[in-house]
Amino acid sequence: MAEIREPTFRESVDLMFNRAVALMDIAPGLEEKIRVANSTYTVRFGVRLRGRMHTFTGYRSVHSEHMEPVKGGIRYALEVNQDEVEALAALMTYKCALVEAPFGGSKGGLCIDPREWDVDELEQITRRFAYELIKRDLIDPAQNVPAPDMGTSEREMAWIADQYSRMNTTDINSRACVTGKPLDNGGIAGRIEATGRGVQFALREFFRHPEDIAAAGLVGTLDGKRVIVQGLGNVGYHAAKFLREEDNAVITGIIERDGALYNEKGLNVDAVREWIVKHGGVTGYPDAVHSAEGAAVLESECDILIPAALEGVINLTNAERIRAPLIIEAANGPVTAGADDILREKGTVIIPDMYANAGGVTVSYFEWVKNLSHIRFGRLQRRQEEARHQLVVDELERLDRYLGDAWSLRPEFKEKYLRGADELELVRSGLDDTMRIAYQSIRQVWHGRDDVHDLRTAAYIFAISRVVAAYRAKGI
Ligand code: GLU
Repeated sequence: MAEIREPTFRESVDLMFNRAVALMDIAPGLEEKIRVANSTYTVRFGVRLRGRMHTFTGYRSVHSEHMEPVKGGIRYALEVNQDEVEALAALMTYKCALVEAPFGGSKGGLCIDPREWDVDELEQITRRFAYELIKRDLIDPAQNVPAPDMGTSEREMAWIADQYSRMNTTDINSRACVTGKPLDNGGIAGRIEATGRGVQFALREFFRHPEDIAAAGLVGTLDGKRVIVQGLGNVGYHAAKFLREEDNAVITGIIERDGALYNEKGLNVDAVREWIVKHGGVTGYPDAVHSAEGAAVLESECDILIPAALEGVINLTNAERIRAPLIIEAANGPVTAGADDILREKGTVIIPDMYANAGGVTVSYFEWVKNLSHIRFGRLQRRQEEARHQLVVDELERLDRYLGDAWSLRPEFKEKYLRGADELELVRSGLDDTMRIAYQSIRQVWHGRDDVHDLRTAAYIFAISRVVAAYRAKGI
């Protein structure tokens, strides 16, 4: 038998796209226009470091400009290539459409292992890469707004923002040229945790629908659910931490580069993270069984599997052996198109990447709006809100005195009710609302159509129809 070739990441995204558009009624030719990347810019630039010239290769792909600016992170990894950034840019288009972030899709990447360079060197490399993109309007508050992704963080975003403002000294909106910046450099509260928080909100919403829980063969709530997380980076860490601390889920497995930890009774996510930071990996962590082969834990029994690392980790070689009944794709593209077929056949429910990890770009949207409005969320309303609440509390206290022992105002109520929302609370509330509404939209397609049998196809259909509507509104 001829060996079946695993499609590339971009082919995988295209296959999933095709499966959805086959069920849609789209004007001839428009589906191809939506599917393909509009442009992908490759840059090779040199930076003089350690006494010699080093050449770096970077990309910025723009998938769809049906709305501008286009949006999407910049990834630093040795494996970065054109196929990957184009797949990721396409996912950004659908992701933004799905969560109503008014952006087209884009993605960038630099072929570099960030661990090989020290901070000063990384700054020089980042500034030079940013310079190349800025001068071609591939970083610009109105046209193309990057954000962190794998291998980058708020530190790189601060360098990019500074580079942009040096090159555009009179642009009053320069801070909106990139999101995911540090809080005291134009960032927004809650952006670092946003993608992980979004995964938590997505799961909470899933567990509000008994029909969906039953489709995955599960019962009950998140309480006590056994969760395996692959990748304890920013996204995996926050998702696991919040699910454990706030929803009482049990994190039974954590898979990292150097193997996996397993503990039926649950792992302390913060302790594992601290161990990784200190020792460079999970090896040697005391309160768990360590296996050098992470793959075995990926295939272990659990209720929820959260791939939060690389693309393509669940593929034709292991899909058959994945036992989790529910997978939530915190990473982009962790399940290949072939694996998706196998898992669907098995009845596994997959909450797809374009929805599951959209919390990051959602809060990026809030940050961009904050930068353009030049004011922190809640700054105008907070004290006024508190003053109005004080009026109610004053009245209730009057009633309290009047009623004597029959009734009294609970101090916790007073404290909670009096506090006006700060930026973090507003961001979390906006994110929660976004994740709930988006899930409800896709589950409606999932359950409302006889020809749609999974959440991924439903999400594609919903997102693509928004992009089509944007084209139609423009008269195309
Ligand atoms: N890199 C993140 C993603 O893949 C965030 C993108 C953004 O905030 O623009 O969704």
